[in-house]
Amino acid sequence: MSKLLLATRNAGKLAELQRLLATAVPGVEVLGLRDVPEYPEAPETGATFEENALLKAREAVRYTGLPAVADDSGLAVDALNGMPGILSARWSGRHGDDPANTALLLGQLADVPDERRGAAFVCAAALVTPDGGGHVLERRWRGTVVREPRGSNGFGYDPVFVPTGLTVTSAELEPAEKDAISHRGQAFAALLPVIGEVLGGR
Ligand code: IMP
Repeated sequence: MSKLLLATRNAGKLAELQRLLATAVPGVEVLGLRDVPEYPEAPETGATFEENALLKAREAVRYTGLPAVADDSGLAVDALNGMPGILSARWSGRHGDDPANTALLLGQLADVPDERRGAAFVCAAALVTPDGGGHVLERRWRGTVVREPRGSNGFGYDPVFVPTGLTVTSAELEPAEKDAISHRGQAFAALLPVIGEVLGGR
């Protein structure tokens, strides 16, 4: 059985890709970072989501020798010219402080009227193979930023993001409902045929 590394410690992302791949590309075993010897994670120095996803996948290949998938994601707010964007995880100055990041964003948008509160969750997904080949693609999930957090599922900015066509925030969706339509779900789904093509014949 050929192996594929998903360069993440996030158990939810890993389980999602394992489920998707099991049906689309049977015969590929998907490992997470917890399944391989630990290596230093490089800082996300890219200027775009796509560059950061490729960077993470290339690092994973370099240290493990396995074909690797990595993703990079964030929230791009229209009224902030696309920010926080690639800085989403550390918007408040501390990496991964979701409540502080969300509070800062809501403060910045306090005077922005409802009709100009559009935003998109963005996800770039990359596949890199040990021969150096790289593929990357990006998907967007449009919605609006509401004024008060709602819901306790998900993470990050989910409690303040209402996807277009829905009235609930993405933190009020069941995980499987979110996966089916989210930026990450769309990006992984779009990468599946590429993974199948690249690994299927091995
Ligand atoms: P990374 O892709 O792990 O670098 O995370 C980027 C950051 O973007 C996260 O820390 C969140 O703040 C935000 N983000 C990305 N995707 C989502 C999502 O699906 N829901 C909520 N926040 C997200």
